[in-house]
Amino acid sequence: MFGGVEAGGTKFVCVIGTGPDDILETQRIEVTSPTDTLGAALGFFRRAVESGNWLDAIGIGSFGPVELRQDQARYGRITTTPKGGWSGTDIVGPFAAAFGIPVGYDTDVNAAALAEGRWGAARGLDSFVYLTLGTGVGGGAVIHGKPLHGLLHPEMGHIAVPRRRGDRFEGLCPFHGDCLEGMASGPAIGARFGRRAELLEGADRESAVKLAGFYLAAGVRSIVYALAPERIVVGGGLSEMPGVVAAARAELRGQLRGYPGLPEHDDEDFLVLAYLRSMAGPAGTLILAEQALELAGNTAVAHAAS
Ligand code: ZN
Repeated sequence: MFGGVEAGGTKFVCVIGTGPDDILETQRIEVTSPTDTLGAALGFFRRAVESGNWLDAIGIGSFGPVELRQDQARYGRITTTPKGGWSGTDIVGPFAAAFGIPVGYDTDVNAAALAEGRWGAARGLDSFVYLTLGTGVGGGAVIHGKPLHGLLHPEMGHIAVPRRRGDRFEGLCPFHGDCLEGMASGPAIGARFGRRAELLEGADRESAVKLAGFYLAAGVRSIVYALAPERIVVGGGLSEMPGVVAAARAELRGQLRGYPGLPEHDDEDFLVLAYLRSMAGPAGTLILAEQALELAGNTAVAHAAS
């Protein structure tokens, strides 16, 4: 039995279970200060354990950027974030200390990608990408079955995008202004119309769908050329606005301009909505927990052998 925390920028979702169809308990926590938010998440698992649940490991999929290299002093922490008070916050440490069980750690979008790969829209694929289009924009990549990490993890929300003709919006990213997230997050789309994107109606709504479709396609184009995924799965609130993914598919054809000319890029199932919807992230954290448990087991075996 595993515990999982999808640590998003606006809410944490804590779950106990083994997969999306086997969630025993769940709790949503509004994100405030690190102390209060982490305290509430720890409290959820403490109560669960006290009431008789057994936890073998915990997985955490966090908003980023995060330090994932285990040989670094900052491992398990959020690094630099414009989110007030959260820079440098240790996410892994408190859970490891409180429960003394293996803790898996990755980005929320890498976790969601893993879940879509096991249970969702990328089942059976070897290399694919999960993109979230919501309050923020981010992407996780699974390459040959493993989440992609290097010096850092992918930060696909900050891909540079061309500006749509006639779009004078300066962009909301505090670092880059008009990067993908700056132009196409839910708040960025809404800001052009003076209200939240989901609340738009009529001609404004149509324009918003076209804008989101254009920038989603522009991000996808860069991902297609950089990572060569077999499929791109899109989640997040804005992706569920009717017409956005269809608009992006139509737009992508134009933006790729026939290069490299693969018929698969035109297929309906190249760019698809997340199957697990908002459960992709939480379910993925259970896979992170499972992997942490396996890793701990292998380490123990290696120690015993040496
Ligand atoms: Zn940016």
